[in-house]
This record gives sequence, C-alpha cells and structure tokens, in this order.
Amino acid sequence: MIPEHTTVAVVGGGPAGLLLARLLHLRGVDCVVLESRERAYVEQRQRAGILEQGTVDVLRAAGAGERLDREGLVHHGIELRFDRRSHRIDFPALAAGASVTVYAQTEVVKDLIDLQLAEGPPLLFGAEVVAVEGADTGRPSVRYRSDGRDRVLACEYVVGCDGFHGVVRQSVPEGGLTTYQREYPYSWLGILADVAPSCEELIYAHSPRGFALHSMRSPSVSRLYLQVPNGTDAAAWSDERIWDELDARFAVDGPWRLERGPITAKSVLPMRSFVTEPLRHGRLFLAGDAAHIVPPTGAKGLNLAAADVTVLAAAFAELHDTGSTELLDAYSDTCLRRVWRAEHFSYFMTTTLHTDPDQSPFETRLQIAQLDRIAGSPHAAAELAENYVGLPLTAPVGERAEHTD
Ligand SMILES: Cc1cc2nc3c(=O)[nH]c(=O)nc-3n(C[C@H](O)[C@H](O)[C@H](O)COP(=O)(O)OP(=O)(O)OC[C@H]3O[C@@H](n4cnc5c(N)ncnc54)[C@H](O)[C@@H]3O)c2cc1C
Repeated sequence: MIPEHTTVAVVGGGPAGLLLARLLHLRGVDCVVLESRERAYVEQRQRAGILEQGTVDVLRAAGAGERLDREGLVHHGIELRFDRRSHRIDFPALAAGASVTVYAQTEVVKDLIDLQLAEGPPLLFGAEVVAVEGADTGRPSVRYRSDGRDRVLACEYVVGCDGFHGVVRQSVPEGGLTTYQREYPYSWLGILADVAPSCEELIYAHSPRGFALHSMRSPSVSRLYLQVPNGTDAAAWSDERIWDELDARFAVDGPWRLERGPITAKSVLPMRSFVTEPLRHGRLFLAGDAAHIVPPTGAKGLNLAAADVTVLAAAFAELHDTGSTELLDAYSDTCLRRVWRAEHFSYFMTTTLHTDPDQSPFETRLQIAQLDRIAGSPHAAAELAENYVGLPLTAPVGERAEHTD
C-alpha cells in the first residue's frame, strides 16, 4: 500500500536516507523513504569505500554490521608517496588506537536496503520527488511521481537526503540558505579492476605527473584513481594507458610492483567543495551530499552523511519520546562544526597532493616540504591521522578523539 501520511518523509535512498530511516525505525519514529531510481541502479552505483570507526559503529547499531564485520578490511594506516619515497601513517600509534574499514558503499547500501525491505519502514523505488511544499508551515508535504502518477506524501518533517543535485535544497526560498563552494581545476579518473590490490593499505601518491591513489574494494578487486584534467572523457583512456600512467605516478625507490588486471569500470569524478548553511529551513532538514560535498581525497563524504543522520535520528527520537525540540534545534550547528573540519581536511589533502595546472615550481616545493614535515614529525602526522580516522560524533571537534579498536 502506498503511504499517504508519515512523520518524517525521507527524500533519497542513498546511504544517508537509508541509514536515517533505519535509525528512526529502531527508535519507533514513523518514516517513509522516496527514491527516484530503481533498486538495481542504487545498489550498483560505485562511490566511496572507506568507513570511519564511528560509521562502522552506527551501522552495527542499525543492525547492518554482520556482513561488514565479516567482509570489511580493517586498515591501520595509509602510505604517502612523494619524491620517490614512501612513508607510512600509523593510525593506532598516532590517533589513540583508531582504524578505518574498507567496505564499499555499494555493499553498505545493499545491506541497508535488505534490512529495510525485510523490516520496514516503507521504501519506494522509482519515486521521484518533484517538490516540497509547506516547509514553513506545520503541514509540509512532498509531491512525487511514481508508476506514471503524481502523488502526495503529507508529513510533519521532510529530510533531504537526495544528494548534491536533489530537489529538497532547491525548494528552499531564495535567501533561506547560504552556500560556500570551490571547484578544483582537476578531476579523478577512477577505475575498478579485477586484480588483487598491490598493497595492503591505501597509497596516496604525489608525483610530478599528478596525483594517484591506490585503494581497494575487496581482496580481489582494486580501485585506483588518477588526477586528470577537467572535461576528460574516460573512454579516451585505453586500459594500457591507465596502467602505464599509474605505474609512472606510483614510482618509488625500492621494491614495488603494480599488478595489472581487467578493468571493469571507468568513470570521471569532478572535485568540488560545497557547504550550505543552515542545514534546516522550517520543517525541512538537509543531510549528507544534499547539504555538503567534499573532494574525495580525504574519504569523508559517506562518513559525513552517516554522522549527519546519526545526529538527526537522535533528535527526532528525543522529540518522539519527550516532545522536546532541543536536539532538533541544535542539529544544524552540531553537524556544521564537524562538516567544516572535514571540509578543511579534504581541502588540505587535495591541495597538498594534487598538481594544479597553473602551479609554479615554488608551490610544488612547498607541497613536498609539507609532506616531508608529515613524514618527519609525529605531531604533523597525528594531525593527518586524527582527521583521517574521523573525529568522534559527540565530542566538540576541537577535542582529541578517544577511540577503541
Ligand atoms: C560520482 C561520485 C563518486 C564518488 N566517489 C567517492 C569516492 O571514491 N570516495 C569517497 O570517499 N566518496 C565518494 N563520493 C562521495 C560519497 O559517495 C557521497 O558522499 C555519499 O554517496 C553521500 O551519500 P548521500 O546519501 O548523502 O547521497 P547520495 O549517495 O547521492 O544519495 C542520494 C540519493 O537520492 C536520490 N535522489 C536524488 N534526487 C531525488 C529525487 N528528486 N527524488 C527521490 N530521490 C532522489 C538519488 O538517486 C540517490 O539515491 C562520490 C560521490 C559521487 C557523486
């Protein structure tokens, strides 16, 4: 049966919307998720893959931890490569015992969809939201198209988890939100390859030819990225050219070999930083990529989305249990502090590791000096490690993270 009324209308069934719905369901808050795409499309969309400890914890609490615990790869560090040298960032030593888990966003989404279809709340695929009305009133509603028909979902609150291009943020009247953004003069060419990773931990490489990243999705699937000019057509890069370029950018003194294998997917990802403030307009809330975007160099996008909805779900639960709007009123400020910290870190990682096409040799030397400082100073390395593994959800961002393994 198609629901006509709910407490929280969640627009978008990506990681933010699915996790929010699951957390609300567990706390007894009624909600409905409207997702414009079909299930198969949502489950196959290749995106992020690094989960902070806090994200793993909240997925476990949501009941989506079983396969994650079985198949996720726990990583205790990353490797930085620059100047043909290699330096390891040791997370447990530098960031109070913390680690991250490699588990693809596709798998997070599959686990959450399985749970939701089995236990609720309602999740409608092929339901494209076209407008949000009445967010300034006590009776908002969401208009959407499904099965070729126009439908309306009446609700008490609307949460836009509909990504950067979604309609919920755009439905806020002019002047209701302030946005801050920056575009970068380069993109990532990302590939998936059916070959075991050539490294045990991720490699972030600064090279005179541009940035490269070696990541992975499983013990048999590698995920690799190359910095490319904006406007690059992925199809213009042959498999051989991609592997040759990766080889050149990961070059290091000492033993190292990049294993090659069949490339199963190629795509180009533009790099953008974007924040909208506040994350609320009346009874309309924004979470995840609908509210903020980071370049993926810091592996923060999915983790920020999970953090937003964890805070928001607790706020709706408090309202449901006690009638208090205190946490809901604090939602935007609570999340924005963490968002801006992650924005800064993602910007720092991006601009330190990539080569701007207009960059002077002087600026390249500054990048090397910064990387050298991280390699040589436990204090500088700890700053990177603490940000990479993620700051705790609850403590103010200025406080040092306390992690358990
Ligand atoms: C192409 C791409 C590649 C990325 N790669 C990486 C990466 O390699 N590493 C990394 O760390 N991060 C990466 N990210 C970032 C990370 O994947 C995102 O931060 C994360 O997906 C945010 O989750 P979300 O649920 O907020 O948004 P999304 O995942 O974008 O989900 C939004 C959902 O809303 C749905 N929707 C949109 N409009 C409507 C509508 N009108 N009605 C109903 N539903 C709607 C969409 O179909 C989608 O399912 C990538 C992001 C993108 C876009």
